[in-house]
Amino acid sequence: MAIFERVENGAERRHYVVKSPVTLEPIGEFDAGSAADVHGAVERARKAQAKWAQLSFADRAEYLWRLVDVIVERQDEIVDCVIAETGKPHNEAVSMEIMAPCMQISYYAKRAAGFLKTQKRRPSGLMRFSKKIELHFQPLGVVGLITPWNGPVALSANPLAQALMAGNAVVHKPSEVTPLSALLFEDLTKAAGFPEDLYQVVQGDGETGAALIEAGVDKVSFTGSVATGRKVGAACGRLLIPCTLELGGKDAMIVCDDADLDRAADGAVRGSCFNTGHYCCGTERVYVPEAIYDPFVEKVVALTRELKQNEVGDSDVGAVFWDKQMDIIESHMADATAKGAKVLVGGQRNPKFKGFFFEPTVVVDVDHDMELMRSETFGPIVAIQKVKDEAEALALANDSDLGLSGNVWTQDLDKGAAIGARMETGSVSVNDIAVTYGVAEAPFGGVKASGVGQVNGEVGIRGYCHVHPVIIDTTKGSKGMGGYPYTIEASKKMQDGFVRKVFGNRFLRKLLV
Ligand code: NAD
Repeated sequence: MAIFERVENGAERRHYVVKSPVTLEPIGEFDAGSAADVHGAVERARKAQAKWAQLSFADRAEYLWRLVDVIVERQDEIVDCVIAETGKPHNEAVSMEIMAPCMQISYYAKRAAGFLKTQKRRPSGLMRFSKKIELHFQPLGVVGLITPWNGPVALSANPLAQALMAGNAVVHKPSEVTPLSALLFEDLTKAAGFPEDLYQVVQGDGETGAALIEAGVDKVSFTGSVATGRKVGAACGRLLIPCTLELGGKDAMIVCDDADLDRAADGAVRGSCFNTGHYCCGTERVYVPEAIYDPFVEKVVALTRELKQNEVGDSDVGAVFWDKQMDIIESHMADATAKGAKVLVGGQRNPKFKGFFFEPTVVVDVDHDMELMRSETFGPIVAIQKVKDEAEALALANDSDLGLSGNVWTQDLDKGAAIGARMETGSVSVNDIAVTYGVAEAPFGGVKASGVGQVNGEVGIRGYCHVHPVIIDTTKGSKGMGGYPYTIEASKKMQDGFVRKVFGNRFLRKLLV
C-alpha cells in the first residue's frame, strides 16, 4: 500500500493520489508539474523578482510579518493538514510546523536588513590610501527550492524567508509525500498579500524537481536524501548554478560517565523518537560507557515503555509518514536482529493499527556491522552500543560516512564542548538533542556526505546573495606613485621602493596589511 500512487487518468501530466499514513484512505490528489510548467513558473518569478528587489528591507519584511499573522490565525488549519498528511502527533505538528516557522520568518524579517545592508570599508595594504570598498548584497534572482516531507512547513518557510528577504523570488517543488501542506502554505502567502508569482509552488515528483533545476533558476536550495543530493549537486555543477545541499545524517549521542543519567536517558528517547524519528538531526546511535551502561539502559527502557502511540494525535510517537520509510526501518531492524542485536522494547510495526506505525523501540547489542548503525534509519528507535570509555564513544561516533549533527551529555560543560568540537559533524549540542537548526544564529549544514554549504543566520541568508564589491578610487591622480597617468618608470620606482622598505621590514609589513 503506497502513500502516494501514480494513477493513469489519460491526461498528459503524471497524476498522483495521496493517502493518509494513519487511515490509508485517499486525502487528496495532484498533477506533477511538467518541464513546461516549471519553465513558465521560473519566467513569471523572474518578472516578479525584478520588482521585489526594488523594495526596501522594511517593505519586504512587512509581507513576512503579515505571513506570520496569517500562520497564527490559521494555525489549526495548518496543523490539521500536516497531521492528515503525515500522522504526526498534534504537539509535534505545532512545535515543528507552527512555532518554528513563526520564529524563522520573524527572525529574518527583523534581522535581514542588518545582515545585508551595504558595508563600507577601507581595503588593507597599500590600497587603503587610495580606495574605498562597498560590499553590496545583491539578490541572485530566482531560487529553486526543493524540499522533503519530514517537516513540510518548517523546511519550506525557513529557506523561503531567507531567499525572499535577500530579494529573490522562489519556485518551490515540495515533496510528493506532503503536497497538500505545500499548497496550503502557498495559499497562506496569497492571504498575506504576497506579490503575484513571487512565490510559486509547482507540485510534482523527482522528475519535476530535476526539471526545476534545468529551468533557468539562479540557485538551488535542496533539502533531502544523500542519494538525491548527489544528483542535484551533479546537475547544478553541470549548469554552474550555486546550491546548498542539506542531506541526511546518522547522528551520534555520546553519554559521558559523569552525565546526569535521568536527563541523558530522556534526551536519548526524545532525540530518537521526535517526529517519529524522521528528524534529519535525530539521534540514531547512542554510545554509553560500561560504567554507566546498565542504569542508563534501564532508564531508557522505562521511559520508552511509557510512550503513548495512537491514531488520534495526542500521542508521543506518531505514524511513519510513508511506506518507503517503513520498509527502511523494518529492513534495518531485521538486519540488526539477524546479526545479534537484542530488542528490549518494541521492535516491530505496531499490529494494533491499520496505518504505518512502528513501535517506539529500544535495541542494544548493536555494532557497526549493522545497517542500523551505519545508514540513516529515520525511525523511532533508540539504538544503544556499550563502549569502554568516552574515547571509544568518540571514535565510533566519527566512524561514519555521514556528519550532520550530534550530541554530548556530561555535567562538565567544558569537557562536553571539547568532545563536541572533536565530533566530525556539521554541528553539535551539549546536554540537549540536536537543536542547531532551531538556533538561527548557528550556521547549519553537514560535513562528509551530509551536505554541502551552510544555511541559517547571517551566513545562510548571505548565501542567497552575490556579494558585489564596488571599489572606488578616492585619489585625484597620484603622479609618480604608479597611479595615473600610468608610466612604467613611475610604477617600477614605486614598487621597488615599496618591496624593499615595507616588505623588507617585519614591523611595517604587519602594520600595512
Ligand atoms: P528525497 O531526496 O527523496 O526527496 C527530496 C526532494 O527531492 C523531494 O521533493 C523529491 O521530489 C525531490 N527529488 C527527487 N529526485 C530528484 C531529482 N533527481 N532532482 C531534483 N529533485 C528531486 O528525500 P526525502 O525522502 O523527501 O527526505 C528525507 C531526507 O531528507 C532524509 O535523508 C533527511 O535526513 C533529509 N533531510 C535533511 C535535512 C537537513 O537539513 N540536512 C532536513 C530534513 C530532511
